[in-house]
Amino acid sequence: MATTPLMGLKDWHKITENAEPTAKAPLLFIGHGNPMNALYNNTFTQTLTKLGQTVEKPKAILVVSAHWLTNGTWVATTAKPETIHDFGGFPQALFDVQYPAPGSPTFATETQTLLKDKTTVQADTSWGLDHGAWTVLKHIYPNADVPVFQLSIDYSKPPQYHYDLAKYLAKLRDKGVMILGSGNIVHNLGRIDWNNPNTGYDWTIEFDEAVKKHINDGNHQPLIDYITLTKGANLAVPTNDHYLPLLYTLALQDAKEKPSHIYEGNEMGSISMRSVLFS
Ligand code: ZN
Repeated sequence: MATTPLMGLKDWHKITENAEPTAKAPLLFIGHGNPMNALYNNTFTQTLTKLGQTVEKPKAILVVSAHWLTNGTWVATTAKPETIHDFGGFPQALFDVQYPAPGSPTFATETQTLLKDKTTVQADTSWGLDHGAWTVLKHIYPNADVPVFQLSIDYSKPPQYHYDLAKYLAKLRDKGVMILGSGNIVHNLGRIDWNNPNTGYDWTIEFDEAVKKHINDGNHQPLIDYITLTKGANLAVPTNDHYLPLLYTLALQDAKEKPSHIYEGNEMGSISMRSVLFS
């Protein structure tokens, strides 16, 4: 499948422009893919740029990224998060990128309070913004003028736990905090095919399409139980670090909110770039 926006940008603009005014801040899942997207100008990054220009600017952004996996749950309370270059083997230009958005100690502390009935969330002052956050936000809010803070993923817990935990974050959206899950629905680095930049394996396409269908139907349980979703689910999601951020996003979908698949396409065989806005 070619890597293209699913809907014309114009079309989903209409959806967001014509939507009833809502107090809830935007809810997003972004398939971030290659860190080099931070520097690229392509149909994916153009989609992110348009998104930032279209949705109402939030007061802050909570990012749940595939790249902050912890034992226990942590929230970054720092006022000035560093740009973390948590990868190797990329050009110096990527290491030179800075995303100097402020943090949000206030909303981070509130996050601890909201989650306390479910788990103890510890305050972290050493984590900055990992590339799951800044490679995406650099295009959505290029001026880095919206405060950003991250919640870690407790990697010792099963998928249902994450979906249930995320429900406790609902009040943040009412207070103007955008929730951004950043991962990839299909992510198998061991099966990357560099010769096929714009296609997916059959099992990639099948899994990605099955996820799309259940998102459209608002049918979340099969997505929590993703390992039985398709025959090749174990190849599509060999480890669930990049998949779990999707469950945080889905858990926060309001009953009235509809998904817009703002971007879709498979890259290098085993990466799905599907990105979804709920509005
Ligand atoms: Zn990643």
